[in-house]
Amino acid sequence: MSRIRFAPSPTGYLHIGGARTCMFNWLYARHIGGEFILRVEDTDQERSKKEYLDEILESIEWLGMNWDEIHYQSKRFDIYREYAQRLVKEGKAYEKEGAIFFKYDFQSVEIDDVIRGKIVFNELPKSEDVIIKSDKSPTYNFSCCVDDALMKISCVIRGEDHISNTPKQILMYKGLGFDVPKFAHVPLILSPGGGRLSKRFGATSIREYKEMGYLSKAIANYLLLLGWSPGDNKEIFSLDEAKDIFEISKVNKTGAVFSIDKLNWVNAEYIKRMKVEELTDLVESFLKTKDFLPQGVERSYLEKVASLFQGRIFKLSDLVDWARFCFYDDFGYCEDTKTILEKDFSKEIEALIKKLSVINDFNIEVIEKEFRATIEELGLKMKNLVHPTRVALTGKRIGPGLFETMEVLGKDKVCQRLNKLIDYWKQGGSNA
Ligand code: GLU
Repeated sequence: MSRIRFAPSPTGYLHIGGARTCMFNWLYARHIGGEFILRVEDTDQERSKKEYLDEILESIEWLGMNWDEIHYQSKRFDIYREYAQRLVKEGKAYEKEGAIFFKYDFQSVEIDDVIRGKIVFNELPKSEDVIIKSDKSPTYNFSCCVDDALMKISCVIRGEDHISNTPKQILMYKGLGFDVPKFAHVPLILSPGGGRLSKRFGATSIREYKEMGYLSKAIANYLLLLGWSPGDNKEIFSLDEAKDIFEISKVNKTGAVFSIDKLNWVNAEYIKRMKVEELTDLVESFLKTKDFLPQGVERSYLEKVASLFQGRIFKLSDLVDWARFCFYDDFGYCEDTKTILEKDFSKEIEALIKKLSVINDFNIEVIEKEFRATIEELGLKMKNLVHPTRVALTGKRIGPGLFETMEVLGKDKVCQRLNKLIDYWKQGGSNA
């Protein structure tokens, strides 16, 4: 049985690089019907925090992955010490004031990396390293090596930033008499400028993406696209679909550049493809966590709002700005609408209100018919009335289709807001 592991350190939140490494591990394990092990590398007791661990586990599950076993290195200190003592006994390590040092029996080390091919290490920066510190905690290379061996990990898949650790670990495997696993070093995700991701460019935790209104499936899909492709130029696919065809050896050798535009595009695609009911569920819980929904908003209304914006938003948080007019009346007209409102169309808007106010079934077809009739009777161009009407209803220059918007808001609100625009002109253009 193949066994694969993801080994996060709970000294920070799960960022997109870690999430993608986790996904590659999970896909590899599931593709071959192996076991997926989570190993929490919490040996640094000062920097490891429960808050980080909770976020890491929650994010892994949120992205759609599960694990078969979970281990905590903090509970395995005795095991590391026992193996270190064994090395001391065999003369491969020595003890000094409570700390244990491993002496590298250096010879050139070669690995056949599953992604990068042959890598040869001809030197090591040191001839020895601490493996157990004086406070009894193990150092990363040692606990990693002992655990990968004892947990029978068949392929170690991790970020390329760990390549320099690999020869040291291989020498430790050899010193301990363990079999050496396979290695696959995944290229890093790069910032648009080419360097490592920074807080400004994408190095955001998965939780933060969730809070910004990205969907878990879209994030998972996008992260996979960064460095792997299912072929056929297919860009939208689920973790489940990927699982059937994923091969770690097909992961790109070069770093992939993170693009927020692409992530937004993928997220928008997921939003577009959702059933309205499902999207409404998400919108409802998202807007509630943002404390944005006024009391008493009905589900049927929310569903209409969700459908109005379904094809237009990139992420759920866009609604907080773009759909504010659907929930609140107290908005002013945005700065950039000034040119639209320059000319006073009070009379024309009044004529429109007259027509709209007698509609019984206030639906998109009837609204459009009456709107066009008003235009024709007054000898106007469509835009003369469309633009100010949109500003009156939404406060903005741009927004969803005008007649759909009117139907969602309903007759009373539409007429009220149009009257408010007339007042605005009457008062010489002071903001509502
Ligand atoms: N705890 C290490 C990290 O988070 C794991 C490295 C490895 O997978 O070996 O980078």
